[in-house]
Order: sequence, then C-alpha cells, then structure tokens
Amino acid sequence: MEDCIFCKIASGLIPSQKVFEDENVFAFRDIQPMAPTHILIIPKVHHANLTAMDKADQTLGGTLLHMANIIAQQENLDNDGYRIAINCGPWGGQVVQHVHLHLLGGRELAGELG
Ligand code: 5GP
Ligand code: ZN
Repeated sequence: MEDCIFCKIASGLIPSQKVFEDENVFAFRDIQPMAPTHILIIPKVHHANLTAMDKADQTLGGTLLHMANIIAQQENLDNDGYRIAINCGPWGGQVVQHVHLHLLGGRELAGELG
C-alpha cells in the first residue's frame, strides 16, 4: 500500500525503533508510548484492520499473537503481566489503517478493560 505509514515502516522506508522482524511480521516501538513498554506488532502484508482479514489469514493472526507472546517475554513483561490490544474502526480508536497489535506493559494498566 503506497500511502500506508506502517507499510513504509515495515519496509524500512520510514525509520522506527525495530524490536523484531521476520518474513511475515515487523515489531517496533510506538512513537507515543502509553506505557513504559509500548510495542506495535504488524503483519508485513497490508490489511486495513481486523475486519479486512478473513479465514485465509487465520494463520497470520495466530503468528501475530504468538510473536506478541515471544516479545513480551523478551521485554520481561511476562512476570508482572501486560496487555495486548487491537483497535478496530473509528469507535475502536483505530487511527492507523494497517492492522496492528499494541503490546503494553511496564506499569499496572487500568482503563476501560482494567
Ligand atoms: P491506533 O490508534 O491506530 O490503534 O494506534 C496507532 C499507533 O501508532 C498510535 O499508538 C501511534 O502513537 C502510533 N504511531 C503513529 N504513527 C507512528 C509512527 O510514525 N511511528 C511509530 N513508531 N508509531 C506511530
Ligand atoms: Zn499498510
């Protein structure tokens, strides 16, 4: 996707603080962190949001979740705990139209899900 900021980050066109990369997944630190650790985990392939992913993308969805688990352990978040969030659509608070998992940790999280 030409005008997608996260596609540009995943391809290295826009710099980011990379945390992890393989052939399918890219993870980087959020530019406006909401917690001491705030990492975004995205597929390299463009999907506008979760709604745009279908049955054929189930494996990719599982891969993203698994990578969030692995990165949480690498960042030492697993002992105290952490949150994974996917914002979808305007009422879900989605701002960037490329599906992404937020991995938040490093402090006790409250808020609407707390
Ligand atoms: P959303 O609200 O769409 O779920 O989350 C988008 C997230 O992307 C926000 O937390 C925002 O801070 C982050 N973000 C937006 N633009 C950039 C950027 O250029 N670089 C990085 N690292 N994060 C970004
Ligand atoms: Zn994209």
